[in-house]
Amino acid sequence: MIYFDNAASTPVYDIVTDYMNKLQKNVFGNPSASHSFGRKARIEVERTRKKIAEKLNVKTSEIYFTSGGTEGNNAILWGCARDLERKVFITSPTEHPCVLNTLESISKELPVQVKFVDVNSEGYVDLKHLDFLLSESPRSVVSLMHANNETGVILPVMDIAFLCKNHRALFHSDIVQSAGKLDLDLEKSGFDFAVGSAHKFHGPKGIGFMYVKSPNFFKSYTSGGRQERKMRAGTENVVGICGMGVALEWALYNLDATINNVRNLKNELIRLLEEEIPEVKFNGDPKNENSLHTIVNISLPETYDKELLLAKLDIEGIAVSAGSACNSGVEKGSHVLTALGADPARPALRVSFSTYNSIDEVRKFVDVLKKIKKEK
Ligand code: PLP
Repeated sequence: MIYFDNAASTPVYDIVTDYMNKLQKNVFGNPSASHSFGRKARIEVERTRKKIAEKLNVKTSEIYFTSGGTEGNNAILWGCARDLERKVFITSPTEHPCVLNTLESISKELPVQVKFVDVNSEGYVDLKHLDFLLSESPRSVVSLMHANNETGVILPVMDIAFLCKNHRALFHSDIVQSAGKLDLDLEKSGFDFAVGSAHKFHGPKGIGFMYVKSPNFFKSYTSGGRQERKMRAGTENVVGICGMGVALEWALYNLDATINNVRNLKNELIRLLEEEIPEVKFNGDPKNENSLHTIVNISLPETYDKELLLAKLDIEGIAVSAGSACNSGVEKGSHVLTALGADPARPALRVSFSTYNSIDEVRKFVDVLKKIKKEK
């Protein structure tokens, strides 16, 4: 089996599984309890918070644990609208649904306006247009992801943060695809809010973190106890939190070598596809060394069977993800590829790598793609 769907989720590191199993057995106290069992759990949680904060170069008190990327993005956007009373949100059509749908819900419930910044055919945000929107609506919230989950396009977050500061706007960034894959300095990047998710960097599912830069704290979005410094009520997922901490540490260990190896896979895939299936088109900007090393998004020629493509690859033991531009308002295609103006007649595939993939797998994948074409 070849697993090329790492942007959807990654295999958990053995070291993480082992650590979590040990904790599950030995650290079962409630971290809010004052006895030694509780204190033991609290120490583990706070040690992990400190570790994650150090890895991302922010204050320990600015890291909050959540159930993942979706919850973090929801909490921050709702918090900005409800508690920080921001009235205008600027985002792009290529954001993850958990940002776009949340903003839509907020605008239905509160007197909030959502504006969309233009993106070009590669998926880059038009910074001049962003500057214009910000000058129209100062003190807004800008929500733009760091690395796009479908194309791997990386936005120039420091430039965006600079514009936000100039216009007294808050900058929220979904860093779900870049956390654990790039050496991030959240303070230097200029984020006011950021959101990560452990299962994208070989950690467990259902656990994530949000960075909330002081003093932009918002009120608790769940009612109950006083956990997470009164921001998120509910007993902490001790084992998940600690598993995430080990996963992040491990993902960032020897990072340059990992990036190099994975980028070689990406470059080899692009080279082979151009050689063997010359009609192929790439979505995003994958040849840019600044694109995320883990993702390649391709549009195959129309000779490929759009409906059966994924099933045929699955039969061959290859797991990738589909994505195609919308043909009509009825057909539900990829909103990202539609925004980029990708040809809806061409079947699109997102190939996403991790450190567990190899060059042989890339070659096998291209061979299978050629074979599937011949069968048509
Ligand atoms: N944001 C991005 C960019 C993602 O790729 C994903 C996962 O697909 C999410 C948010 C949602 O994260 P989670 O699965 O932790 O809720």
